[in-house]
Parts: sequence; C-alpha cells; structure tokens
Amino acid sequence: MKLTAINVYNVDLPVVGKYRMSMGSVSLLQSTVVELITDEGVTGFGETCPVGPIYQPQHALGARAALEEMAPSLIGLDPRNFGQLNRAMESALNGSRYAKAAIDIAAWDICGKSYGRRICDLLGGATGDTIATYYSIPVASPEEAAREARERQREGHDRLQIKIGGRDVEEDIETLHRVNEAIKPGMRLAADANRGLTSRDALFLSQRCRDISFVLEQPCNTMEEIAAVRYQLCHPVYMDELAEDVNSVLRAISTGLVDGFGMKLTRVGGISALRTVRDICDARRLPHTCDDSWGGDIIAAACVHVGATVDTSRFEGSWIAAPYIDGHYDEENPVRLEGGRIKVPTGPGLGVVPDMAKLGSPIASFG
Ligand SMILES: [Mg+2]
Repeated sequence: MKLTAINVYNVDLPVVGKYRMSMGSVSLLQSTVVELITDEGVTGFGETCPVGPIYQPQHALGARAALEEMAPSLIGLDPRNFGQLNRAMESALNGSRYAKAAIDIAAWDICGKSYGRRICDLLGGATGDTIATYYSIPVASPEEAAREARERQREGHDRLQIKIGGRDVEEDIETLHRVNEAIKPGMRLAADANRGLTSRDALFLSQRCRDISFVLEQPCNTMEEIAAVRYQLCHPVYMDELAEDVNSVLRAISTGLVDGFGMKLTRVGGISALRTVRDICDARRLPHTCDDSWGGDIIAAACVHVGATVDTSRFEGSWIAAPYIDGHYDEENPVRLEGGRIKVPTGPGLGVVPDMAKLGSPIASFG
C-alpha cells in the first residue's frame, strides 16, 4: 500500500455558548482536517485544532504551513508503517508535532480500515464499550460554576474540571468552595488554572482549599514555578500544557514534579506518541486523561480509542469538544457524551467517516 495523495481541509467550528479559560475566551476555532489517499482505495482522516493562537505556541495557520513542508516527502510511503512515516516527518521538519499528529491519526485510521480492526484493538484492546469522560466548566462566577456543577452531576458526570485563573484568586477560592458544597460525594474534581496562577496564588488557593479533594491542574506557567511550591501545596499536581512531548513527560516524572497528566493527543504528536506516553505512565502508575484542547469528531474518536486502552483505575477520562460544537462530521456515528460516558466507536479505524460536503474543497493538495 502506498500513499498517493494528501488533501488538507479547513473546517470552521463555531463555539456554542462561551468557553472561557484563564487566558481569554474563544468563539470560533479553525480545524485542519487531513485526508490520506492510498493506491488501494483506502483513505484515512486526521485532524488538528489548536484552541486559538494563544493557548499554546500552536496555531491553525502554523499547522497548515507545517503540512505543506512535510506532505510531499510522504508520498509513496506505506501509511501502515507508523515508525517509517513518523521518521519521514522528522526528517522533513523539526517540531510541529501537532501537524504531524494529523498525519499520524490518518495513518492509524488507514491501518485499522486495512486490517478491518478498530484503532483501540490495534492498541491492545478496549477496556469496555464506553469510556469515562469529564466535563469542563469554564471560568465563571462562584454561583454559576456551582449551578453548572449540580447540573452536570445530574446528567451522570462523575468528574468535573473547574477552570480557574486569570482573575482575583479570591474568586477562584470561593468558586471551589461553592462547587464543593453543590456536589454530592463521589464526584471527582480537577481545578485547572491553564498556567494562570502565580506560585504565590497557587499556594494561597491550595492551602485555603485544603479540605476539598481535587487535583490542581497546570497551576503555573513553567516547571520551575511549579517545582518552587510543589511540596507546600495540599493537592496533587497534574501537568497539562507543559507535557509537550514524550521527553517533557519523562522529565516531569523523573523529577517527581507531578502526580498525573492532562494529556493532549495532538500536542505530543498523535496516536503513536500518545501510546508511548500511556505506557510510560502505566509503568509509574500515574493517572492521566487522553484528550485534546479542541477539535471535531476525528480528534474525539482518536482520543477515545487511546483512552479506551488505558487501565481504568488510572484513567481520568477523555474530554471532547462535542458539547460546544453544533453538529458532527459524521452524523451517523457521532462521538458524543451519553449519560456522562462516551461510547467507543465500533467501525474499523477511527469508526468515524466525515461527510465530505462538510469539509468543502481542499485548501491544499499534494501528490
Ligand atoms: Mg488542562
């Protein structure tokens, strides 16, 4: 099997409602969908969708420039040979793992379709028909956050992520107390600052919420700031934005900096890289999520397939952007929340086939 052509599509994903994090709000995301075409008539889809240009160094136009740089050198390769494909991408371009991730996801999709197996089966087998997820409550007033927490618990969610940061820390502290009063026992909480706290405010917040059980996700901007307060905090620390690749995950684990991860599929480089991270975390019994910062059904399906293969005792769920997006790429097999869980797709490969009318015409083609 050989790759004969690569098409790149732009998909505008307007945000339903308001999604506010410590560094600001987002209202429309530009997703980049990649289609790999082979000489055997099997096609695969991948996607990458940075959540705006300031969440991280990644941005939509950067992904497209990176794809343009790499795509020509991939034509002729067998996409089922992930190692070879990833080495070819490394030889063509340094960095830009989030763009390489779109190709990698599409290659896994082709591999699954070619062998008639789901990606989760190729990754070692799913733990069940559905997987855990968690709901993310954007930065909101203490009253709004408490109301939404109650509502999400009623829907069946058993893990909530409360966005904090980017405002007076007193409001964050009040929010966590109000949410804790609103929920019933059994609900697990994460307080995600998205790098938005100073080490001083992380200490204030953790010590004044010491009786509330939650994990503190990505409290500060750098590993050094987290290291400075790590052993004075009253809460376990998870790393998200700074877990940029396999090496940074190893660094954080080997220095004892964190107790788990919010792990993003495209940031680390796709399914192949996330599989490595999954296995490293397994060796150290570290909990983690398997998700991404945004994206449509293709990214959601890829996250769910990897998430379905993580030991359930340490799996923190796959967050998907579906509740904030109107419609699906694949209306027949959408990836969505159902009663606080996500059904693992059943079709071969990703199990999601985008409606080509929703992708429009390619913005770039290679091969
Ligand atoms: Mg996070």
